[in-house]
Amino acid sequence: MSIRRATDAQDAPCIVEYGGRFFGMSSDELYVLRALDGTRTPEEVRRHLASRQGLLVSTREIERFVARLGELGLLEGGEAPAKRDTGLRWSVGLSEAQTYRLCTSALWLVRPATTWAMAVLVVAAVAAVCTQRSTVWNALATGFGFEVLVGIVILGIPTAALHEILHGAALIVQGERPGRLGIGLVGPVTPVMFIDVGRAWALDQVWKRVWVWGAGLMCDLTLAAIGVLWCAAWGTWGHGLAWMIVLTTVWRVVTNVNPLWGGDGADLLSEACKTPAVMGKVAAWLRTLSGRWLVGRIASPTVTPRAVRVAFLATMLYQPIHFGWVSLLVWGVTNTIRSGRFLS
Ligand SMILES: [Zn+2]
Repeated sequence: MSIRRATDAQDAPCIVEYGGRFFGMSSDELYVLRALDGTRTPEEVRRHLASRQGLLVSTREIERFVARLGELGLLEGGEAPAKRDTGLRWSVGLSEAQTYRLCTSALWLVRPATTWAMAVLVVAAVAAVCTQRSTVWNALATGFGFEVLVGIVILGIPTAALHEILHGAALIVQGERPGRLGIGLVGPVTPVMFIDVGRAWALDQVWKRVWVWGAGLMCDLTLAAIGVLWCAAWGTWGHGLAWMIVLTTVWRVVTNVNPLWGGDGADLLSEACKTPAVMGKVAAWLRTLSGRWLVGRIASPTVTPRAVRVAFLATMLYQPIHFGWVSLLVWGVTNTIRSGRFLS
Protein backbone atom coordinates (compact mmCIF):
# COMPACT_ATOMS: atom_id res chain seq x y z
CA MET A 1 0.00 0.00 0.00
CA SER A 2 1.42 3.39 -0.92
CA ILE A 3 0.06 6.67 0.41
CA ARG A 4 0.64 10.09 -1.05
CA ARG A 5 -0.84 13.51 -0.35
CA ALA A 6 -2.80 15.05 -3.25
CA THR A 7 -1.16 18.44 -2.53
CA ASP A 8 1.50 19.77 -0.16
CA ALA A 9 -1.03 21.18 2.31
CA GLN A 10 -0.92 19.53 5.71
CA ASP A 11 -4.52 18.41 5.75
CA ALA A 12 -4.65 17.60 2.04
CA PRO A 13 -6.57 14.47 1.05
CA CYS A 14 -4.46 11.44 0.29
CA ILE A 15 -4.30 9.06 -2.61
CA VAL A 16 -3.91 5.48 -1.47
CA GLU A 17 -2.74 2.89 -3.97
CA TYR A 18 -3.37 -0.74 -3.15
CA GLY A 19 -3.39 -3.73 -5.46
CA GLY A 20 -3.29 -1.54 -8.59
CA ARG A 21 -6.31 0.50 -7.52
CA PHE A 22 -6.52 4.03 -6.20
CA PHE A 23 -8.62 5.36 -3.35
CA GLY A 24 -9.15 8.93 -2.24
CA MET A 25 -9.16 9.49 1.51
CA SER A 26 -9.29 12.54 3.72
CA SER A 27 -6.62 13.02 6.39
CA ASP A 28 -9.14 11.93 9.01
CA GLU A 29 -10.01 8.76 7.12
CA LEU A 30 -6.34 7.96 6.75
CA TYR A 31 -5.84 8.55 10.45
CA VAL A 32 -8.61 6.08 11.25
CA LEU A 33 -7.13 3.62 8.76
CA ARG A 34 -3.74 3.84 10.50
CA ALA A 35 -5.30 3.64 13.96
CA LEU A 36 -6.93 0.34 12.96
CA ASP A 37 -3.81 -1.68 13.68
CA GLY A 38 -5.64 -4.77 14.85
CA THR A 39 -5.07 -4.07 18.55
CA ARG A 40 -7.46 -1.14 19.11
CA THR A 41 -11.19 -1.66 19.36
CA PRO A 42 -13.51 0.75 17.46
CA GLU A 43 -14.32 2.34 20.82
CA GLU A 44 -10.63 3.01 21.51
CA VAL A 45 -10.19 4.44 18.01
CA ARG A 46 -13.19 6.69 18.61
CA ARG A 47 -11.75 8.06 21.88
CA HIS A 48 -8.33 8.48 20.30
CA LEU A 49 -9.82 10.45 17.40
CA ALA A 50 -11.86 12.65 19.73
CA SER A 51 -8.89 13.50 21.98
CA ARG A 52 -6.36 13.96 19.19
CA GLN A 53 -8.36 15.84 16.59
CA GLY A 54 -11.49 16.88 18.40
CA LEU A 55 -13.50 14.82 15.93
CA LEU A 56 -16.67 13.38 17.31
CA VAL A 57 -17.31 10.18 15.43
CA SER A 58 -19.54 7.43 16.77
CA THR A 59 -18.37 3.86 17.27
CA ARG A 60 -21.06 2.84 14.80
CA GLU A 61 -19.53 5.06 12.11
CA ILE A 62 -16.13 3.54 12.71
CA GLU A 63 -17.63 0.06 12.41
CA ARG A 64 -19.20 1.08 9.09
CA PHE A 65 -15.90 2.54 7.96
CA VAL A 66 -14.21 -0.77 8.77
CA ALA A 67 -16.94 -2.64 6.88
CA ARG A 68 -16.41 -0.35 3.89
CA LEU A 69 -12.65 -0.92 4.01
CA GLY A 70 -13.40 -4.64 3.98
CA GLU A 71 -15.59 -4.25 0.88
CA LEU A 72 -12.82 -2.34 -0.84
CA GLY A 73 -10.31 -5.05 0.06
CA LEU A 74 -8.19 -2.69 2.17
CA LEU A 75 -8.07 -4.84 5.31
CA GLU A 76 -5.22 -7.18 6.06
CA GLY A 77 -6.26 -10.81 5.68
CA GLY A 78 -9.36 -9.75 3.75
CA GLU A 79 -10.27 -10.53 0.16
CA ALA A 80 -7.90 -9.09 -2.39
CA PRO A 81 -9.54 -6.23 -4.28
CA ALA A 82 -10.77 -6.78 -7.81
CA LYS A 83 -7.99 -5.54 -10.05
CA ARG A 84 -10.11 -3.04 -11.93
CA ASP A 85 -13.39 -1.42 -11.19
CA THR A 86 -15.06 0.57 -13.94
CA GLY A 87 -18.12 1.11 -11.75
CA LEU A 88 -20.30 -0.29 -14.53
CA ARG A 89 -22.86 -3.05 -14.18
CA TRP A 90 -21.86 -4.83 -17.32
CA SER A 91 -19.15 -4.22 -19.86
CA VAL A 92 -17.53 -5.72 -22.91
CA GLY A 93 -14.47 -4.52 -24.77
CA LEU A 94 -10.89 -4.89 -25.86
CA SER A 95 -8.18 -6.50 -23.77
CA GLU A 96 -5.61 -4.26 -22.06
CA ALA A 97 -2.99 -5.19 -24.67
CA GLN A 98 -5.35 -4.34 -27.57
CA THR A 99 -6.32 -1.07 -25.87
CA TYR A 100 -2.66 -0.18 -25.41
CA ARG A 101 -1.88 -0.82 -29.09
CA LEU A 102 -4.88 1.21 -30.24
CA CYS A 103 -4.04 4.16 -27.99
CA THR A 104 -0.38 4.03 -28.98
CA SER A 105 -1.40 4.51 -32.62
CA ALA A 106 -3.09 7.78 -31.58
CA LEU A 107 -0.12 9.26 -29.70
CA TRP A 108 0.40 11.91 -32.39
CA LEU A 109 -3.00 13.35 -31.43
CA VAL A 110 -1.77 14.28 -27.95
CA ARG A 111 1.57 15.80 -28.95
CA PRO A 112 2.02 19.50 -28.09
CA ALA A 113 1.95 20.59 -31.76
CA THR A 114 -1.37 18.80 -32.36
CA THR A 115 -2.83 20.22 -29.16
CA TRP A 116 -1.95 23.76 -30.23
CA ALA A 117 -3.55 23.14 -33.61
CA MET A 118 -6.68 21.86 -31.83
CA ALA A 119 -6.80 24.94 -29.62
CA VAL A 120 -6.53 27.21 -32.69
CA LEU A 121 -9.43 25.35 -34.35
CA VAL A 122 -11.59 25.71 -31.24
CA VAL A 123 -10.89 29.45 -30.97
CA ALA A 124 -11.64 29.90 -34.69
CA ALA A 125 -14.90 27.97 -34.28
CA VAL A 126 -15.99 30.11 -31.33
CA ALA A 127 -15.29 33.20 -33.45
CA ALA A 128 -17.31 31.72 -36.33
CA VAL A 129 -20.28 31.02 -34.06
CA CYS A 130 -20.10 34.57 -32.66
CA THR A 131 -20.07 36.20 -36.07
CA GLN A 132 -22.90 34.00 -37.40
CA ARG A 133 -24.83 33.65 -34.16
CA SER A 134 -28.28 34.48 -35.53
CA THR A 135 -27.89 31.85 -38.27
CA VAL A 136 -26.69 29.28 -35.72
CA TRP A 137 -29.57 30.11 -33.42
CA ASN A 138 -32.09 29.69 -36.25
CA ALA A 139 -30.59 26.34 -37.17
CA LEU A 140 -30.99 25.13 -33.59
CA ALA A 141 -34.44 26.58 -33.06
CA THR A 142 -36.13 25.53 -36.29
CA GLY A 143 -35.30 21.88 -35.76
CA PHE A 144 -33.50 19.20 -37.68
CA GLY A 145 -34.42 16.79 -40.41
CA PHE A 146 -34.95 13.15 -39.50
CA GLU A 147 -31.60 12.25 -41.07
CA VAL A 148 -29.83 14.49 -38.56
CA LEU A 149 -31.42 12.66 -35.62
CA VAL A 150 -30.33 9.28 -37.04
CA GLY A 151 -26.90 10.70 -37.85
CA ILE A 152 -26.37 11.82 -34.25
CA VAL A 153 -26.97 8.29 -32.97
CA ILE A 154 -24.70 6.69 -35.58
CA LEU A 155 -21.89 9.25 -35.19
CA GLY A 156 -22.06 8.86 -31.41
CA ILE A 157 -20.15 5.56 -31.57
CA PRO A 158 -16.95 6.44 -33.51
CA THR A 159 -16.66 9.90 -31.90
CA ALA A 160 -17.02 8.36 -28.41
CA ALA A 161 -14.35 5.77 -29.27
CA LEU A 162 -11.98 8.53 -30.37
CA HIS A 163 -12.73 10.43 -27.15
CA GLU A 164 -11.72 7.39 -25.06
CA ILE A 165 -8.66 6.64 -27.19
CA LEU A 166 -7.38 10.17 -26.53
CA HIS A 167 -7.72 9.64 -22.77
CA GLY A 168 -5.62 6.49 -23.16
CA ALA A 169 -3.04 8.17 -25.41
CA ALA A 170 -2.67 11.07 -22.95
CA LEU A 171 -2.01 8.56 -20.17
CA ILE A 172 0.58 6.66 -22.23
CA VAL A 173 2.41 9.92 -23.03
CA GLN A 174 2.76 10.41 -19.26
CA GLY A 175 4.29 6.95 -18.91
CA GLU A 176 1.34 4.97 -17.53
CA ARG A 177 -0.76 2.24 -19.13
CA PRO A 178 -4.53 2.41 -19.58
CA GLY A 179 -6.80 -0.51 -18.69
CA ARG A 180 -9.54 -1.77 -21.00
CA LEU A 181 -11.54 0.18 -23.56
CA GLY A 182 -15.09 -0.96 -24.08
CA ILE A 183 -18.81 -0.39 -23.83
CA GLY A 184 -20.77 -0.81 -20.61
CA LEU A 185 -24.07 0.00 -18.99
CA VAL A 186 -24.63 2.72 -16.42
CA GLY A 187 -27.78 1.75 -14.58
CA PRO A 188 -30.03 -0.70 -16.39
CA VAL A 189 -30.27 0.90 -19.83
CA THR A 190 -27.74 3.68 -20.49
CA PRO A 191 -24.85 2.52 -22.70
CA VAL A 192 -21.51 4.33 -22.35
CA MET A 193 -18.10 3.85 -23.86
CA PHE A 194 -15.30 3.82 -21.32
CA ILE A 195 -11.57 3.48 -20.93
CA ASP A 196 -9.93 2.74 -17.61
CA VAL A 197 -7.41 5.53 -16.99
CA GLY A 198 -7.42 5.07 -13.20
CA ARG A 199 -3.60 4.78 -13.38
CA ALA A 200 -3.62 8.56 -13.86
CA TRP A 201 -3.80 8.71 -10.05
CA ALA A 202 -0.26 7.38 -10.04
CA LEU A 203 0.85 10.67 -11.67
CA ASP A 204 2.00 13.03 -8.95
CA GLN A 205 1.51 16.31 -10.79
CA VAL A 206 -1.93 17.85 -11.10
CA TRP A 207 -1.42 19.17 -14.64
CA LYS A 208 -0.54 15.68 -15.89
CA ARG A 209 -3.73 14.21 -14.46
CA VAL A 210 -5.82 17.13 -15.75
CA TRP A 211 -4.31 16.47 -19.16
CA VAL A 212 -5.52 12.85 -19.01
CA TRP A 213 -9.03 13.78 -17.76
CA GLY A 214 -9.32 16.62 -20.31
CA ALA A 215 -8.00 14.83 -23.42
CA GLY A 216 -11.43 13.39 -24.26
CA LEU A 217 -13.10 16.79 -24.02
CA MET A 218 -10.37 18.29 -26.19
CA CYS A 219 -11.15 15.62 -28.80
CA ASP A 220 -14.88 16.46 -28.78
CA LEU A 221 -14.25 20.20 -28.88
CA THR A 222 -11.92 19.78 -31.86
CA LEU A 223 -14.44 17.68 -33.79
CA ALA A 224 -17.14 20.24 -32.95
CA ALA A 225 -14.83 23.02 -34.14
CA ILE A 226 -14.20 21.25 -37.45
CA GLY A 227 -17.95 20.82 -37.91
CA VAL A 228 -18.64 24.46 -37.04
CA LEU A 229 -15.98 25.78 -39.44
CA TRP A 230 -17.33 23.53 -42.18
CA CYS A 231 -20.89 24.81 -41.60
CA ALA A 232 -19.64 28.39 -41.52
CA ALA A 233 -17.66 28.01 -44.74
CA TRP A 234 -20.33 26.16 -46.75
CA GLY A 235 -23.44 27.53 -45.07
CA THR A 236 -24.68 24.09 -44.04
CA TRP A 237 -25.99 25.09 -40.59
CA GLY A 238 -28.93 22.85 -39.68
CA HIS A 239 -28.28 19.96 -42.03
CA GLY A 240 -25.62 17.65 -43.40
CA LEU A 241 -22.75 15.67 -41.90
CA ALA A 242 -20.90 18.64 -40.39
CA TRP A 243 -23.99 19.74 -38.47
CA MET A 244 -24.49 16.18 -37.17
CA ILE A 245 -20.90 16.14 -35.91
CA VAL A 246 -21.44 19.48 -34.17
CA LEU A 247 -24.57 18.29 -32.36
CA THR A 248 -23.07 14.90 -31.43
CA THR A 249 -19.86 16.31 -29.99
CA VAL A 250 -21.34 19.37 -28.27
CA TRP A 251 -23.91 17.05 -26.71
CA ARG A 252 -21.11 14.89 -25.35
CA VAL A 253 -19.16 17.87 -24.00
CA VAL A 254 -22.18 19.29 -22.20
CA THR A 255 -23.09 15.90 -20.69
CA ASN A 256 -19.55 14.87 -19.89
CA VAL A 257 -18.71 18.08 -18.06
CA ASN A 258 -21.67 17.55 -15.71
CA PRO A 259 -20.13 16.18 -12.48
CA LEU A 260 -23.40 14.43 -11.64
CA TRP A 261 -22.67 11.79 -14.29
CA GLY A 262 -19.35 10.93 -12.68
CA GLY A 263 -17.49 11.35 -15.98
CA ASP A 264 -14.65 13.68 -16.89
CA GLY A 265 -16.38 16.62 -15.19
CA ALA A 266 -16.26 14.81 -11.85
CA ASP A 267 -12.54 14.10 -12.23
CA LEU A 268 -11.79 17.70 -13.23
CA LEU A 269 -13.87 18.98 -10.31
CA SER A 270 -11.95 16.64 -7.98
CA GLU A 271 -8.72 18.26 -9.14
CA ALA A 272 -10.14 21.78 -8.84
CA CYS A 273 -11.27 21.04 -5.26
CA LYS A 274 -8.04 19.16 -4.48
CA THR A 275 -10.16 16.27 -3.22
CA PRO A 276 -9.98 12.91 -5.02
CA ALA A 277 -13.40 11.37 -5.75
CA VAL A 278 -15.08 14.58 -4.59
CA MET A 279 -18.54 13.58 -5.86
CA GLY A 280 -18.49 10.53 -3.55
CA LYS A 281 -17.80 12.95 -0.70
CA VAL A 282 -20.62 15.20 -1.84
CA ALA A 283 -22.99 12.22 -1.82
CA ALA A 284 -21.79 11.20 1.66
CA TRP A 285 -22.18 14.78 2.88
CA LEU A 286 -25.73 15.02 1.49
CA ARG A 287 -26.62 11.75 3.19
CA THR A 288 -25.36 13.09 6.53
CA LEU A 289 -27.42 16.25 5.95
CA SER A 290 -30.49 14.16 5.28
CA GLY A 291 -29.91 12.41 8.60
CA ARG A 292 -28.86 9.05 7.22
CA TRP A 293 -25.41 7.99 8.26
CA LEU A 294 -24.04 5.95 5.44
CA VAL A 295 -20.45 5.54 4.40
CA GLY A 296 -19.86 7.09 0.99
CA ARG A 297 -18.50 5.46 -2.11
CA ILE A 298 -15.06 6.09 -0.72
CA ALA A 299 -15.04 5.17 2.96
CA SER A 300 -16.01 8.33 4.74
CA PRO A 301 -16.65 8.49 8.49
CA THR A 302 -16.02 12.22 8.40
CA VAL A 303 -16.16 14.62 5.51
CA THR A 304 -14.06 17.65 4.62
CA PRO A 305 -16.81 20.20 4.28
CA ARG A 306 -15.35 23.18 2.46
CA ALA A 307 -14.11 21.52 -0.74
CA VAL A 308 -17.18 19.31 -0.69
CA ARG A 309 -19.52 22.27 -0.39
CA VAL A 310 -17.73 24.07 -3.22
CA ALA A 311 -18.04 20.94 -5.38
CA PHE A 312 -21.73 20.70 -4.57
CA LEU A 313 -22.28 24.38 -5.42
CA ALA A 314 -20.38 24.05 -8.72
CA THR A 315 -22.44 20.99 -9.62
CA MET A 316 -25.70 22.80 -8.89
CA LEU A 317 -24.64 25.89 -10.86
CA TYR A 318 -23.89 23.71 -13.86
CA GLN A 319 -27.33 22.08 -13.98
CA PRO A 320 -29.15 25.03 -15.65
CA ILE A 321 -26.56 25.01 -18.46
CA HIS A 322 -27.09 21.31 -19.06
CA PHE A 323 -30.85 21.68 -18.76
CA GLY A 324 -30.82 24.64 -21.19
CA TRP A 325 -28.96 22.65 -23.83
CA VAL A 326 -31.25 19.62 -23.51
CA SER A 327 -34.29 21.90 -23.68
CA LEU A 328 -32.96 23.50 -26.84
CA LEU A 329 -32.57 20.11 -28.52
CA VAL A 330 -36.00 18.94 -27.37
CA TRP A 331 -37.45 22.17 -28.74
CA GLY A 332 -35.65 21.59 -32.03
CA VAL A 333 -36.93 18.02 -32.28
CA THR A 334 -40.47 19.18 -31.47
CA ASN A 335 -40.27 21.78 -34.24
CA THR A 336 -39.02 19.10 -36.62
CA ILE A 337 -42.01 16.89 -35.91
CA ARG A 338 -44.46 19.80 -36.08
CA SER A 339 -43.12 21.02 -39.40
CA GLY A 340 -43.59 17.53 -40.85
CA ARG A 341 -39.92 17.29 -41.82
CA PHE A 342 -39.65 14.33 -39.48
CA LEU A 343 -41.40 12.17 -42.06
CA SER A 344 -40.15 13.75 -45.24
ZN1 LIG B 1 -13.91 11.14 -21.17
